[in-house]
Amino acid sequence: MNLILFGPPAAGKGTQAKRLTAERGFVQLSTGDMLRAARKSGSELGAKVAAIMDSGSLVSDEIVIALIEEALAANKGAPGFIFDGFPRTVAQAEALDAMLAKHGQKIDRVIRLEVDSVQLMARIAKRFDEEGRADDNPDAYKVRLDAYFNQTAPLVPYYEKQGKLAGVDGMADVESVARGIAGALA
Ligand code: AMP
Repeated sequence: MNLILFGPPAAGKGTQAKRLTAERGFVQLSTGDMLRAARKSGSELGAKVAAIMDSGSLVSDEIVIALIEEALAANKGAPGFIFDGFPRTVAQAEALDAMLAKHGQKIDRVIRLEVDSVQLMARIAKRFDEEGRADDNPDAYKVRLDAYFNQTAPLVPYYEKQGKLAGVDGMADVESVARGIAGALA
């Protein structure tokens, strides 16, 4: 089974993806984690995306699609993939459908974590104070939320049309969200 965890930045996608990985052996593919790893390694790609990421804007479709293509090839035979933070544009979603089809696979379910953006701003301000992640600062987070509403939200009708979208209350505690996701996958 292949699924997408969908929702605005800081909705809890990463936390839930890690749980599903531990519980079901799925492989988590997070383009945000891949890009942060590229930066940490000091690679050319890392240097290229650093300023864009810190500003809160999206990096190019071409870059993230190439990362996912590599990861799919490197994890052939995985029992399932959880896409976390990808796709974020319609072009990425179309590319993902095509890449999976090449491997004889498809997206089975898109779990949308439903959250309140005002509460999310408060949650992220707290995370910035605690962890100091550059793109969690209030200005960059605003840009990330805008990118979500302008570039990523059009994926809702894209997956709705395919009958794959399931909504889960993302403002509940971690356990309840996990139960909601399990219910949507049953
Ligand atoms: P995330 O941890 O998923 O919020 O990603 C952190 C940052 O990495 C984003 O704000 C973007 O700059 C970049 N990024 C991650 N995934 C994508 C994607 N699918 N498309 C474009 N940019 C991305």
